[in-house]
Amino acid sequence: MTPEGFVDLHIHTIRSDGVFTPREVVDRAYRLGFAGIGIADHDTVEGIREVSGYAADLGLELIPAVELSSEWRGLDLHILGYYLTIEDPDLDTFLKRVQARRLLRVQEMIDRLQGQGVNLSLSQVQEIAKGGTMGRPHIAQALVEQGYVPTYEEAFVRFIGYHCPAYVPKLEISPAEAIGLIHRASGLAVLAHPGTYDGEWVIDALIGEGLDGLEAWHPEHSSHQSQRFLDLARSQGLLVTGGSDCHGGRKGRVLLGEVKLPYRLLAELKARAGR
Ligand code: AMP
Ligand code: FE
Ligand code: FE
Ligand code: ZN
Repeated sequence: MTPEGFVDLHIHTIRSDGVFTPREVVDRAYRLGFAGIGIADHDTVEGIREVSGYAADLGLELIPAVELSSEWRGLDLHILGYYLTIEDPDLDTFLKRVQARRLLRVQEMIDRLQGQGVNLSLSQVQEIAKGGTMGRPHIAQALVEQGYVPTYEEAFVRFIGYHCPAYVPKLEISPAEAIGLIHRASGLAVLAHPGTYDGEWVIDALIGEGLDGLEAWHPEHSSHQSQRFLDLARSQGLLVTGGSDCHGGRKGRVLLGEVKLPYRLLAELKARAGR
């Protein structure tokens, strides 16, 4: 019998660009009555290592996950990996490489900002990132703290959005490589927030690369979009997932608790993953 309850399969922690520690995420989800949560940090599985025992003690199911960035035809496509073996040595090597590249990238973005009259130091950004996967959200917060922009959003509009002068790409891997990496670590690959990429041609192409599922429910999707992805997934034999993409309020709303999916979806994911 499938357990009762609800799940959220896409949550960030301070190990990437979220605000809450992994323990705070587990505590909050437990108090909100979740049966299961997926911690899906950008380019790291540290958070899962940290709280797998703690979550188990509380009786909260913790789904191992990661959110990888891939680049294709100028798009930054995010691929979620579920139920991957977090100790997988190739995955570990890859994530270390990404972390190293992200550090250099932040320095490069700081240098470019300098050219625009903005003075940030690497240590200011590192202080905000607190050892987690470094990225633009931390630079955005530093820009707000130093008074260069009034809001977090404005930092992306003026300085670090995709078409801004201080934007620097990440380590560029293709979606096919991301999917392959997840598969070799025994995980399932799901396209994150497909509604944010402008066009279903992306989905068609990724299905050809072995994509396993679509993130149908996401705060940036309209109910019409969610239904469309659900129909598309059903017709293509893909899994469907969803989550709040909670970053703990760095972007505004906390979001945790606003997306509650029936446990049945997780059961389907688990069955496909052979768990
Ligand atoms: P990075 O991986 O360093 O390129 O940073 C990407 C992250 O920045 C995303 O996962 C979001 O959390 C955040 N982000 C990207 N674009 C925006 C935006 N326009 N407004 C707010 N947050 C954004
Ligand atoms: Fe993020
Ligand atoms: Fe994402
Ligand atoms: Zn995310």
